[in-house]
Amino acid sequence: MNNIQKNIKRIISQIESAQKKYGRARNSVQLLAVSKTKPIEAILDAVQGGQKFFGENYVQESINKIQFFRKNYANLSLKWHFIGPIQSNKTRHVSENFDWVHTINRAKIAQRLNDQRPVGMEPIQVLIQVNTCSEKNKFGVFENEIFALVDLITSLPNLTLRGLMSIPANTSDHQSQFIAFSKLTKLKNKLTKKYPQLELDTLSMGMSGDMDAAIRAGSTMLRIGTSIFGTRNDK
Ligand SMILES: *Cc1c(COP(=O)(O)O)cnc(C)c1O
Repeated sequence: MNNIQKNIKRIISQIESAQKKYGRARNSVQLLAVSKTKPIEAILDAVQGGQKFFGENYVQESINKIQFFRKNYANLSLKWHFIGPIQSNKTRHVSENFDWVHTINRAKIAQRLNDQRPVGMEPIQVLIQVNTCSEKNKFGVFENEIFALVDLITSLPNLTLRGLMSIPANTSDHQSQFIAFSKLTKLKNKLTKKYPQLELDTLSMGMSGDMDAAIRAGSTMLRIGTSIFGTRNDK
């Protein structure tokens, strides 16, 4: 087993023990391996360690990776999640290549992803990115903007709304992390009440530095980069 595979194994066992510790159901938390800036070889290591779900932030580099795996490893049916900020001039590439998008934050982006989805592909599984910390410079919509976006997304045939995502302010304090994540959990519960017909089963929250608090607060999908692939030179 190489380092990446050891890291994945360790994180899965951390997830399992956190699920137990916090009374979460077994297998209720998925691991998304965030492979941005990392080469195809690193992703291949993870794939050979059993990893199926990958998160990418930058359109151009991710397209090359996705096309490589679709061409050479189609039988593995890897799932690709776009988790970076989306500019409207990049929606076509995202719509043509990704299975999931976590960062829907305005009507125009949702509409374009829907309109540009190629015929014959399954709907894109989408999450609304929420700003839970009321900082203006953070990405994501505020609570009062969510409902209009839900109404739009549910009217679009090529998008399937699955839940919410957030990236809270960076802090190393477990309790503060937990409070921030809990806001997203409460919002999702509110949405579930208001839209009982939707299957909102996904809360994308928790990264390398705060996964324990995220699991405690109800995360169903962790986005883990550094703890799997090592440190990055972020753009
Ligand atoms: C880079 C990134 C991650 C992974 O962060 P790590 O701290 O490396 O685990 C998760 N989510 C988003 C949106 C990211 O951009």
